[in-house]
Amino acid sequence: LFVTLEGGDGVGKTTQAALLHEWLAGEGRTVVRTREPGGTEVGVLIRDIVLHHRGEVAPRAEALLYAADRAHHVETVVRPALDRGDVVIQDRYLDSSVSYQGAGRVLGRDEVRELSLWATDGLLPDLTVLLDLDHARARERLDAADKPFDRLEAEESAFHDRVRAEFLALAQAEPDRFLVLDAAQPAAELAARIRSRVARLLGE
Ligand code: C5P
Ligand code: MG
Repeated sequence: LFVTLEGGDGVGKTTQAALLHEWLAGEGRTVVRTREPGGTEVGVLIRDIVLHHRGEVAPRAEALLYAADRAHHVETVVRPALDRGDVVIQDRYLDSSVSYQGAGRVLGRDEVRELSLWATDGLLPDLTVLLDLDHARARERLDAADKPFDRLEAEESAFHDRVRAEFLALAQAEPDRFLVLDAAQPAAELAARIRSRVARLLGE
């Protein structure tokens, strides 16, 4: 079972990934918890460019770097885990690329999706949890957590609005794959909803 968590920065993806992992482990499941960008050694190098390079990175180059990170991660970590029968819980996947590079950087939904599907040889999640929150609320949480600099922080709010709208549009286009949750709810409440969906998928 391949579960991805999506949404803007500061919406609580990492917290929910940890809670889901803990619950599944308690159920006796073998879980691989991972993330993009940066889920492999190669990915850590790519992550450093896309998040911390202080100068310009051309939008198409950025999209290709995320795709390269994803290609390597899927081939060396995600597919092997799924082949073993493990549950993979992943912070961000192709919906982040479609939303950030496709909508945020205006490269286009279909183009970025095709690029990602080529990179991963067509691997799609069984479930994608979208934690939806407006950027101002998420921003407050990030400030409170004192997160270090990344390039996206410099983006104007219109950029983040495009990203959020695209995530929601993607969820609407694939209602069976997505579980959309209002991330303003308490973490325990969100975790319970995610658990019940995952339990159902594991029972099928
Ligand atoms: O905390 P996290 O690892 O999710 O941070 C990743 C950063 O990369 C965030 O700033 C996110 O907005 C950005 N990102 C992006 N395009 C992607 C994936 C992540 O701009 N495809
Ligand atoms: Mg995070």
